[in-house]
Amino acid sequence: MTHIKSKSGISVRDLHLSFGSTKVLTGVNLEIEPGEFFAFLGPSGSGKSTLLRAIAGFGPQPQGQILVGDRNLAGLPPWERNVGMVFQSYALWPHMSVRKNVAFGLVEKKVPTRLIDEKVEAALSLVGLLDYAERMPSQLSGGQQQRVALARTIVTKPDVLLLDEPLSNLDASLRVQMRRELLALQRKLGLTTIFVTHDQEEANTTADRMAVLDQGVVQQVGSPQTLYDHPENLFVAGFLGTAN
Ligand code: ADP
Ligand code: MG
Repeated sequence: MTHIKSKSGISVRDLHLSFGSTKVLTGVNLEIEPGEFFAFLGPSGSGKSTLLRAIAGFGPQPQGQILVGDRNLAGLPPWERNVGMVFQSYALWPHMSVRKNVAFGLVEKKVPTRLIDEKVEAALSLVGLLDYAERMPSQLSGGQQQRVALARTIVTKPDVLLLDEPLSNLDASLRVQMRRELLALQRKLGLTTIFVTHDQEEANTTADRMAVLDQGVVQQVGSPQTLYDHPENLFVAGFLGTAN
């Protein structure tokens, strides 16, 4: 892998999480390398979003360890984790300009005002939207809104980037273009990334490695090629086979 700048990988160790009596994660283990683009697949309701939210610090407190570099995030509040997350719906502030949306996290972090413009413009430039800084979200296309959501996340320089089906709301041709942009950006920044998707082609064409989740546990981890050629169990074989 080239351009590795992120020093931190992610280790998830024996993670358990329940909603009331419903067990959603029942012993998830993952080792993600620094700078890796790691795709995460699984059927709807298998706990993909729950896992990302647990890493980011949202939702019920899980049992187990979440290590980013040598820091154990479990138990830390979300704002102390230095984890960036992008959701399927862009969740931009509708009453704020693009510039203000991207600056929001920096203002919260009390970054000196003179640095904010510089950082915001660098982030907007990375996603190709420098000329859109003064627009309102409603004046942007879906793809542009998702680029703003990405800029808003990377501007805070997170240790890891969590993407929860970020391209699912886009139409098919734009999705292909955006996944290329996303991968190019990830490579440029060298950001350790978990990319949740239900689109296998999206995973195949982007991921260094991928994992398939079912029944609250990771069923298999490996390169896309390995999982297709050598599925370790019937679930993985069926899941990757039927949707093709
Ligand atoms: P995925 O993202 O893989 O589609 P989710 O992580 O959203 O799956 O959901 C996993 C399971 O946890 C589902 O059965 C879902 O109903 C349940 N779940 C998710 N969020 C909540 C919640 N806030 N309260 C109760 N159950 C939830
Ligand atoms: Mg989900």
